[in-house]
Amino acid sequence: SAKPVPKPIRALDARTVSLVAAGEVIQRPSNCIKELLENCLDAGSTSIRVTVKEGGLKLLQIQDNGCGIRKADLPILCERFTTSKIKAFEDLSQLGTYGFRGEALASISHVAHLSVTTKTRDESCAWKAAYSNGNMVPVKAGLKDSQPIPCAGNDGTLIVVEDLFYNTPTRLKSLRSSSDEYSRIVAVVLHYSIHNAGVSMVCKKANASTADVNTAVGASVNDNIGLHYGEAVRKELVEVVVEHAELGVKAKGWFSGANYGAKKGTYLFFINHRLVDCTPLKRAFEGFYGTLLAKGSHPFVYLSLEIDPTKVDVNVHPTKREVGFEDQDEIVELICDALAKKLEKASESRSFKVQT
Ligand code: ADP
Ligand code: MG
Repeated sequence: SAKPVPKPIRALDARTVSLVAAGEVIQRPSNCIKELLENCLDAGSTSIRVTVKEGGLKLLQIQDNGCGIRKADLPILCERFTTSKIKAFEDLSQLGTYGFRGEALASISHVAHLSVTTKTRDESCAWKAAYSNGNMVPVKAGLKDSQPIPCAGNDGTLIVVEDLFYNTPTRLKSLRSSSDEYSRIVAVVLHYSIHNAGVSMVCKKANASTADVNTAVGASVNDNIGLHYGEAVRKELVEVVVEHAELGVKAKGWFSGANYGAKKGTYLFFINHRLVDCTPLKRAFEGFYGTLLAKGSHPFVYLSLEIDPTKVDVNVHPTKREVGFEDQDEIVELICDALAKKLEKASESRSFKVQT
């Protein structure tokens, strides 16, 4: 049989490279909002408001009251690999922020219409800029210059993402209903609102009179869990804190006890403040609660692990959710032991209360 004739190898053009890269970072509205939310938190915001139309495909808007972006930085804001968060690869080992790759805004600007209105404390007005394919573009039709324009605004940043995936129809088609996408957005905001209790987060559909997430400034973790998962969980929560110097881990968790059971379990895991999936952790807690709860009953678990960054790969891709770490079994055992003791104490004090 005839061998195929080799075709010449060519470099992809810059536009194709950017679109492929953007598609890897921004796969659906919910990971777009995750990136934007992390930027607001990195900026030190205490109040973050998310507004959504059509599951985020028509509009994703996020307003924060953080440090803002310097006007001088606006022209390069959406270029790939521009960041204010690290200067060199070595800085990654002590990363104190979520972001560092400088890819999120760049990616969004390739697959949506993006505008940014921002004000730092030092500016007397806000500045609005628009972006397309990594570049700053005129803010309005009719304007010739790709300059930021002055406008009214509070300290902080407003990011508006419209018509997500307008130029990638196959991606658009691969998404499910806008109500499914909206639930995913709500889940991201909800989980970050629990992990960042104290920072107020609001998530609502545009034109809706009530919000689907609405946490208060200064609220506690318990408040925010109770708000969304109900009083039944809240009153059963026990808090567990363990630290282990040799394993290089600090764990803080909120767990439901023996008197609470849901049809479906809730497992929220944050590793070094990033929302992750961790199947081995989930399995371990399923095993633990399997002996505690009746069959078909499941717990609420929210666990935040701070692990020595050399033991987790921090250089994971933004959309990589499943994360593993060293000494997993030892760390799980440590937490489950502490949890067992806490639950025992809780049940003792309960029976004591009942007696008196
Ligand atoms: P990264 O977060 O990895 O640095 P991004 O593309 O997400 O990359 O953001 C690029 C830069 O834009 C950030 O480093 C930061 O300086 C700035 N920025 C983005 N969003 C905000 C925001 N909400 N408030 C203040 N600065 C922001
Ligand atoms: Mg970022």
